[in-house]
Amino acid sequence: MSSAASPIRVVSPEADERIFVTQPHMAPLSEFIPYLEKIWDSKVLTNRGPFHRQLEDALCEYLGVEHLALFANGTLALVTALQALRITGEVITTPYSFVATAHSLLWNGIKPVFVDVDPNTLNLDPKKIEAAITPQTTAIMPVHCYGHPCDVEAIRQIADIYNLRVIYDAAHAFGVKTESGSLLRHGDLSVLSFHATKVFNTFEGGAIVCPDAKTKQRIDHLKNFGYVDELTVVAPGINGKMSEINAAFGLLQLQHVDEAIARRKRIDAMYRELLRDVQGIRCLDAAGETASNYAYFPILIESEYPMSRDALFELLRSHEVIARRYFYPLISDFPMYRGLPSASRDNLPVATEAALKVLCLPLYPALRDEQVERIAAIVAQAQ
Ligand SMILES: *Cc1c(COP(=O)(O)O)cnc(C)c1O
Repeated sequence: MSSAASPIRVVSPEADERIFVTQPHMAPLSEFIPYLEKIWDSKVLTNRGPFHRQLEDALCEYLGVEHLALFANGTLALVTALQALRITGEVITTPYSFVATAHSLLWNGIKPVFVDVDPNTLNLDPKKIEAAITPQTTAIMPVHCYGHPCDVEAIRQIADIYNLRVIYDAAHAFGVKTESGSLLRHGDLSVLSFHATKVFNTFEGGAIVCPDAKTKQRIDHLKNFGYVDELTVVAPGINGKMSEINAAFGLLQLQHVDEAIARRKRIDAMYRELLRDVQGIRCLDAAGETASNYAYFPILIESEYPMSRDALFELLRSHEVIARRYFYPLISDFPMYRGLPSASRDNLPVATEAALKVLCLPLYPALRDEQVERIAAIVAQAQ
């Protein structure tokens, strides 16, 4: 790319045309200035300021949940969610996710136990969970991968029988609904990410969705060093707070998120139409959600396709289209996990295969129709 030393980047027409897998959706800067003026006037920069409180309320209403605690990012929220429920021992989780899912377990001294995924949804396969439960198992941490719902009912039944907690990594699942309402109401806790690359972003940010006020209070203490009041510290908490500038931006972003999701939906429909008859390309289907967020557009490159996934990845690159192989490598293949017995590929055949076949195509609100057509044409015409 450009020289790191120069603050002014001269963009060549070629680099300008380069299409990445995503591009952050940002409300107009002019609309953000009044929020900044308020912060400059009040000098309240953090520690549960007015924008922080307003964003928590606004998100509860938008998402249809009772309680939510904002965080500086989704990873701190995951780490804190495990602390909030005092999870120890072993936790069953998926290898097919972003690495932060399992890292949050290691940061708590918890042993991840990888269980394979379902071939249709690529989410944790409930049928394979029971065999992985041991006397040390205390919880399940599934991921609503690409924003498609896990089999929440089957997971709840297993959790009830074995007295396990369930913490959903819902980093992809902002705004997703099923027949019973918000997907985020399932499990003991759900964790969101508002990272720049996600459907709803606050530059960096995250949240824990929780069912009751008492749990939210514990989480609020944990994210602020364990402070209850000026003189009382009740737990070895962390600094996980979201700043006022991020919270203010979130309030503004929330006003634009519906139009952003509507545009994503249109692009998703275009890709599905344009790729429908392409031999060897499988578009991942919705998994029973009544409201989707169209966070990603994963395709699976099957053996009938004329080239391998990696060859298609390179072909797209040669056309300045930077797709991404989410999720390859599997988390269980990274050095800090691959020694675990559950990390063996024999234990994870479906995830192993998916990781070799998947490619996420560019999908973001500013992507233009003709760009979608061009990307789909490259995929459709490859030979
Ligand atoms: C983005 C993401 C995270 C981490 O969120 P950050 O806000 O970037 O810390 C965790 N899990 C999954 C599945 C993610 O995609």
